Amino acid sequence: MTTDNHPENAPAQAQAPAPVAVLGLGLMGHALAAALLRAGHPTTVWNRTAAKADDLVAEGAVRADTPAAAFAAAPLVVACVTDYDALRALLGPVDPAVLDGRTLVNLTTGTSAQARDTAAWAAGLGLTYLDGAIMASPPAIGTGEAAIAVSGPRADFDRHGPALRSLAGDIPYLGADHGLTSLYEMAIVGLMWSLLNGWLHGAALVGTAGVSAAEFTAIASKGVPAVVGWLPGFAEQIDTGTFTADDATLDIHRAAMAHLVQESEFLGVNAEFPALIKSFADRAAAAGHGGEGYPVMIEEFRRPAAKPE
Ligand code: NAP
Repeated sequence: MTTDNHPENAPAQAQAPAPVAVLGLGLMGHALAAALLRAGHPTTVWNRTAAKADDLVAEGAVRADTPAAAFAAAPLVVACVTDYDALRALLGPVDPAVLDGRTLVNLTTGTSAQARDTAAWAAGLGLTYLDGAIMASPPAIGTGEAAIAVSGPRADFDRHGPALRSLAGDIPYLGADHGLTSLYEMAIVGLMWSLLNGWLHGAALVGTAGVSAAEFTAIASKGVPAVVGWLPGFAEQIDTGTFTADDATLDIHRAAMAHLVQESEFLGVNAEFPALIKSFADRAAAAGHGGEGYPVMIEEFRRPAAKPE
């Protein structure tokens, strides 16, 4: 007979937080290490400028004197230095015997080619490699506000899932191709800058009438969720290749773009940004797409600009 307090009947014990090492304690790396500490992971830290580890060590982190010592301390190493070249330079001198069997999660920003090259280089050192893209600012790390997308071998992603979830509330797995996270990251920062630049241009425009950026933002931000709401339907048009103008034709958008350029020039505000937007629409219209929906412009984005004759 078994009793409730028999070991077989005990509720599954939550696994103790696994040891993790963090390489790079700049603004982002420091936030990553702090989040791991808060979540109870035995955390080893290394930074080129050693003093940046002092407060983390005071809170319980262990200082590694070298990158090799950080790898020796934990099966999972999170790296967040400036770029891929810096990462490879600091790991280059490490004895491959120390790296063998470890998993490196690299959260440095770069291109998809750099991520794929680094994955191949890491494999040569016996390192398992996951590439990650942080979609958050340092204060959000370790909270539900943060997302960190990851690509690489699924089994390793699953194995280190609990530690990764200490860093961000949302950890989307994008696939086995190591380049996918950088590809998404580049696409998403492009989206961010387009939104920010449109907002800056708008603030400059209304500023000519003495409207403050705050007043403008209070009104302008009401429209942003509506535009975001169009995206799933527009995405379906791109994926199916049918660009029916359900709401407004590209020609109607082009007319408004011309007014935006005209207004900017009239008010002495820089008109390059709206003129650039209009140039894409003009090319799509010249190719016969003026009567179709806005997403038909995807063709203009899919190929490099034609070189001037
Ligand atoms: P940061 O504050 O400038 O820190 C850079 C880190 O890289 C420092 O730890 C620095 O060490 C280290 N480093 C640079 N070159 C090195 C080298 N040759 N050898 C060893 N260490 C080197 O930058 P950050 O904001 O933390 O950003 C780090 C990465 O996270 C970047 O790829 C960035 O794009 C990405 N990221 C940042 C944010 C953000 O909001 N900050 C958001 C998403 C992604 P020292 O302290 O010794 O200089």
